[in-house]
Amino acid sequence: MVYALSAGSPVLYVAPKNSQFKAAVDLGKVFQKSRIPLKVLVLTSKAKACQKDEILCQNSSCPFATNYHDKVEENDLRTRDEKRHLWDYRYFQKLSEQYEICPYEIGMERIRAADLIICDYNYVFSPHANFLDRYLDPIVPMKKPVLVIDEAHNLYERVIENYSPEIRLSILKEFFSKTLVKDEAFNKIIDQAIRLMKTLSPPASSAKIKTDGEAIKELLAQTLSLMTARWGGDGLPGSEDPLFQFFTLWYDLNEMINVSQESIPLIYKRENGDEVLKAQCIDPSALIAPIYDNFLGVVAFSATLKPFAFYQHMSGFDLQTSEAVEFGSPFPREHKKIMVIPQVQTNYRERDRHYQRIAMIIERVIDLQSGPYLVFFSSYQFLRAVEAELPKGRDWQIFSQSSSLSGAGVQRIMDLLEDGEGTRLILAVQGGSLSEGIDFRGMGLRGVFVVGPAVPSATFERKLMQDHFEQLSGNGRAYAYVYPSMTKSVQAAGRIVRDESEKGIIILMDPRFVEKDYAEAMPDDWYELSAKELVPKQILAEVKEFWDQVAGNVGHEVHGKAKGPIGEDSLSV
Ligand code: SF4
Repeated sequence: MVYALSAGSPVLYVAPKNSQFKAAVDLGKVFQKSRIPLKVLVLTSKAKACQKDEILCQNSSCPFATNYHDKVEENDLRTRDEKRHLWDYRYFQKLSEQYEICPYEIGMERIRAADLIICDYNYVFSPHANFLDRYLDPIVPMKKPVLVIDEAHNLYERVIENYSPEIRLSILKEFFSKTLVKDEAFNKIIDQAIRLMKTLSPPASSAKIKTDGEAIKELLAQTLSLMTARWGGDGLPGSEDPLFQFFTLWYDLNEMINVSQESIPLIYKRENGDEVLKAQCIDPSALIAPIYDNFLGVVAFSATLKPFAFYQHMSGFDLQTSEAVEFGSPFPREHKKIMVIPQVQTNYRERDRHYQRIAMIIERVIDLQSGPYLVFFSSYQFLRAVEAELPKGRDWQIFSQSSSLSGAGVQRIMDLLEDGEGTRLILAVQGGSLSEGIDFRGMGLRGVFVVGPAVPSATFERKLMQDHFEQLSGNGRAYAYVYPSMTKSVQAAGRIVRDESEKGIIILMDPRFVEKDYAEAMPDDWYELSAKELVPKQILAEVKEFWDQVAGNVGHEVHGKAKGPIGEDSLSV
């Protein structure tokens, strides 16, 4: 922020979730308290800001768009703004209701006046991104902003998602039922699109395909011509209009076909009774790198950006000109006991023989020190299987995450951790809402179990990624499977010891955690020379020893003796 201020540039802070904006807003307050009156702008998505059920931004259909500029001028809203230092969702909603003006547009109009702009990744890293269009002004040149990317380990996956448009045969067929029965012109175009899918369909169930794109361009031209005939003189169709949706599908696909077959190959696959034509982004670096040219500087940070070479490449940074720095944990290493239990197998083929062992380890470790614990699995199915093996009749409170966990559900868990007593066990999945972007600080967590790495499934797309990076770096397996899984495991493990006073244990179960590719994704302070240092000789004895050591400092109550060793012998029950 100081660098940007001294260069006269604003800071654009982007994060993957709105819940992560708070840190940046607080940063703005720090400056404001020091009498540096930063103007902080928080942008929300158009869908969230919109006051209507359907986004149809035309004077004729939305009263919040009608005479927008006149209303802003008449009510002197710009002068009113000057007195404020935080322009956020609540403020825009208030203005919108008071003056019947579009809350999304009010926010976008302030982009050039703010010193710190806080928004989602999608404002910059999406084919529909519009931050730069609104910020750069050909008439009034603006200083390049400084880009700050928070939780940057998420960036490459978001870009892959945003730049991988697909068209499903089932969706195309649904357009018939969405259209009016007599809409023959549109029905003809849908027919043409289905025939095009059939022409492109390869003999194999999944394959990379090639097209010169002419047939897709022709289809787009015909759709556009029908749209122009219908709406040419009367504004634009709404986002819910089937013809507009159909056009958008093909337009997005066509855009990506024109980028790069190497980074975004076109694929065709049959799955679950459906057929999919897809531009699959497998290497986002070529898409991200040119975006950085619009910024004075770029800073990306996260607690999980290792190995650096992987994240530098995947985040579009040039290895020669960018610098990667690791900052150690500010808290003493002795506050954490980290263990790898290689005797537990969690891979898909063998895990069912280990459900009981996993439950037994959890029970016996927890028995040494009651309190709240988190247990992270690689899937919901795995979670349920181990949950069924946990001992019954204990005075533990157990909460297990489901795929439909809502914001209110997350709050209930926080309350359980904060206000509950005794042993509370939260069973959750890696990569979910309880393992990332959530701060359990001050909740007295005693430990985290990470039950196996959450290795991505070997889909056709993942294999393409593996082949691509095998050619590029000679380590395709690590790029496609190992590093993405370790990001989730390290994030999950990072839920504990979030301040100076907290102490806890981290137990990783699976032999893969000591393999080279997995180990090099671990933070610097986890081991000295080799991850094998984290394998205990006697699990329970070492856990007890840790709690004995820290008991005096934090008033932890260590329960009795370690009940028999859980070493290699006892694990091979
Ligand atoms: S002008 Fe604003 S309020 Fe109206 S439809 Fe568009 S986004 Fe919604």
